[in-house]
Amino acid sequence: MNTISVLRRAGALALAAAAGAVLAVVGPTDLPAAPALIPAASPDGALRHAAALSRQIGARPSGTPAFQQAVEYVEGQLRALGYEVERQPFAFLYFEARAAALRVGGPDGEELHPSILEYSAATPAVGVDGPLVAAGLGRAEEVRRAAVGGRIALIARGDLTFREKVEQAATAGAIAAVIYNNRPGATPGATLGAPSRIPAVMISQEAGERLLALLRQGSVRVHLRVETLTEQRGTWNVIGRRAGRDARTFVIGAHLDSVEVSPGANDNASGIAAALEAARLLAALPLALSVEIIGFGAEERGLLGSAHYVRERGGRVAGMVNMDMVGRGTLMVGNSAGDTRLVDAAVRAAERLGLRVERVRLGGSDHVSFERAGIPAVFIHTGDDPAIHTPGDVLERLEPQRMAEAARLAAAVALEAAELLR
Ligand SMILES: [Zn+2]
Repeated sequence: MNTISVLRRAGALALAAAAGAVLAVVGPTDLPAAPALIPAASPDGALRHAAALSRQIGARPSGTPAFQQAVEYVEGQLRALGYEVERQPFAFLYFEARAAALRVGGPDGEELHPSILEYSAATPAVGVDGPLVAAGLGRAEEVRRAAVGGRIALIARGDLTFREKVEQAATAGAIAAVIYNNRPGATPGATLGAPSRIPAVMISQEAGERLLALLRQGSVRVHLRVETLTEQRGTWNVIGRRAGRDARTFVIGAHLDSVEVSPGANDNASGIAAALEAARLLAALPLALSVEIIGFGAEERGLLGSAHYVRERGGRVAGMVNMDMVGRGTLMVGNSAGDTRLVDAAVRAAERLGLRVERVRLGGSDHVSFERAGIPAVFIHTGDDPAIHTPGDVLERLEPQRMAEAARLAAAVALEAAELLR
């Protein structure tokens, strides 16, 4: 999942799907027969894929050797299933958070443990020193009133985007921005979306409140050091194609990259595992639409791989299924746009397959790139995960059955799409 976008769950509709009850309501002539032919996917097979990506390879941000290994893994699997495989290259702005330190007071002062906001500028190698100043939520009038010029702005998370806060502080002359969380516990990964003019880090709510208390007692000097790397790099989408009777293409996609700090088992080895299982199920069946199984690059950098794919090849795509975080929780289907044809199809297919799904409204992942181009899409997902983008997103937490269910549902929708999207 991508943290720039917001997940919103609307009106969950639980569908109890006893096969007998469904047959009593819907006559067999109302539905394409194809999805019934889909065999069950293999939980063990899905788990092996997820293990290869999240445990043997581990963290695999686009633009790194680990990502290339992940691409090679997916290529090998798709080739073995008889798919025609290619890499679609594209360039993007690579970012690496290398080291950060924030010290209060002199050399013996308290060390806070900041996390670097994605695309933050670096400090000089020796760091920067300056007086700390509280600047509210970082609104223009707040940074002005706080006179942040030449100082380090302490800003609360909330209301504005991280980028807006840091840009306001930079415009008002701050030499760095320290944002403190607005909820207790671990600090999540967060992005500025594009390179900032000043270094920007995040600290915990507890640390932020301690600094505010110190500021109420008098002036506070801090030392901040941020080491980052930002540069253009190349990466790929990996595409496996199997021709159907129709050259128009149905895409089953999942993002192959992870964030820097996480083995990305649920986010998103699970989605790739399910896509590879769906590829295996479809490899044995006659296809009306051609099918492409795609591992997208640079989703975590802002849905970049899927956006590139749609720009280059969207014109021949009839529809797509996206799977992101399908490894634990409750099976859900939805999208973020008004075209619900494939969502409806997924709900019907789930009923036929005896799968329980919730219907939700969901953005935040690669299907959004297709929806922006007017291509019907459905997102299969198994819900929020507190371990997202952390080292704790590990293989042991996955439920193989969820991945297998997602795979079977994706394959069923791909088969039905030819009728539906005529
Ligand atoms: Zn993610």
